[in-house]
Amino acid sequence: MDLSYIINQLGEERERYFNAVVPPIMQSSIFAAPNIAGLRRMMADEMNHYLYTRGNNPTVDILAKKIAALEGAERALMFGSGAAAVAAGVMAFICTGDDILSVAKPYAWTKNLLQKELSKFGVSSRFIDAKNSQAVADAIQPNTRMLVLESPNSLTFEQQDLAAIATIARQRGVLTLIDNSYATPLNQSPIAMGIDMVAHSATKYINGHSDAVVGALCGSDALMQKVFRGPYMTFGAILSPHDAWLVIRGLRTLPARLKQIAETSMKVLGFLQQHKKVLQVYSPHAQSNPQFGLTQQQLRGASGLLSFELDTNEIAGVERFCDALKRFLISVSWGGYESQVLPTAGVREWDSIDAPAPVSIRLVRLSIGLEDAAVLIADLSQAFEQV
Ligand SMILES: *Cc1c(COP(=O)(O)O)cnc(C)c1O
Repeated sequence: MDLSYIINQLGEERERYFNAVVPPIMQSSIFAAPNIAGLRRMMADEMNHYLYTRGNNPTVDILAKKIAALEGAERALMFGSGAAAVAAGVMAFICTGDDILSVAKPYAWTKNLLQKELSKFGVSSRFIDAKNSQAVADAIQPNTRMLVLESPNSLTFEQQDLAAIATIARQRGVLTLIDNSYATPLNQSPIAMGIDMVAHSATKYINGHSDAVVGALCGSDALMQKVFRGPYMTFGAILSPHDAWLVIRGLRTLPARLKQIAETSMKVLGFLQQHKKVLQVYSPHAQSNPQFGLTQQQLRGASGLLSFELDTNEIAGVERFCDALKRFLISVSWGGYESQVLPTAGVREWDSIDAPAPVSIRLVRLSIGLEDAAVLIADLSQAFEQV
């Protein structure tokens, strides 16, 4: 894959806009037809014509072509959020009576979609430990229509064996969709492993500047046509031309950003692993991770997300640690140029640090940004003194 060609050139047609090096923001909701015969042609295949920006827009299209190429997919559709991309990818293919199998701990709003929204329409969802591919095979029922994967997830980084699960799913006629946000298209290629659809929160690394909320869904032409005619056009959760322009700009530096972020996060991981106030680290790239072998098989590199459990017996200890950090912003989301911290303890009021939660309340997630490793490690060091 010639990364720099995809990122710097693919999809751009400079001669159509005065040879401007940077493509313009085509801030137009509509595009005129040359005549009535042309209008009919455009309406018959809206996905491949510029007619109306809810369907297709030249600036958004440049970005979609790049994302599809990066994922090795025939097509990508861009959305106004990652959540919209996941929802569209699921809703295009299921109907009442269908069953969906999901990983145990998907992204919170993916879980909400499956458990709360779709159950209203008679769709059942089951959440299983998909680390074990045989358990996935055993859980497939005659009405199971789709497998919703997320590998690694964005909090404790459980992975699925994508090639094994894709083989099982194809044999059983089950569609697969993966949330590939952690890895980005640079570090994991699920379509090459046989997965049908790849969703991204491009809000994270792909844009990388914490200034736009963006989603992408990739797959074959046939699958994306179905999504386009269904939820994409119907719900209209599209990406604006202006935000697409921001993401094209963000994407230009994705390989450079990820390279530095990976390097820094491995140094931070090493620091955390030996710190006496850390009970356990969570990262696909920690050798102590029981799935480290799978990491080496599926992931080409690290990103900047990692978590750890603080050695404290009080929620106030977690709070003091996070409040003491000066270079990590306390914020949700991740994947930006700036380092961030998010403790489980901060997501709502808890009675006790031992409260049963999907993950430990001692858990603190870091998103490593573009700061110097030494600066981040010094900041963590002084915060540990406050625990
Ligand atoms: C943020 C996130 C999403 C949702 O993306 P938005 O762009 O916020 O809608 C989906 N999956 C994962 C893993 C995420 O981290």
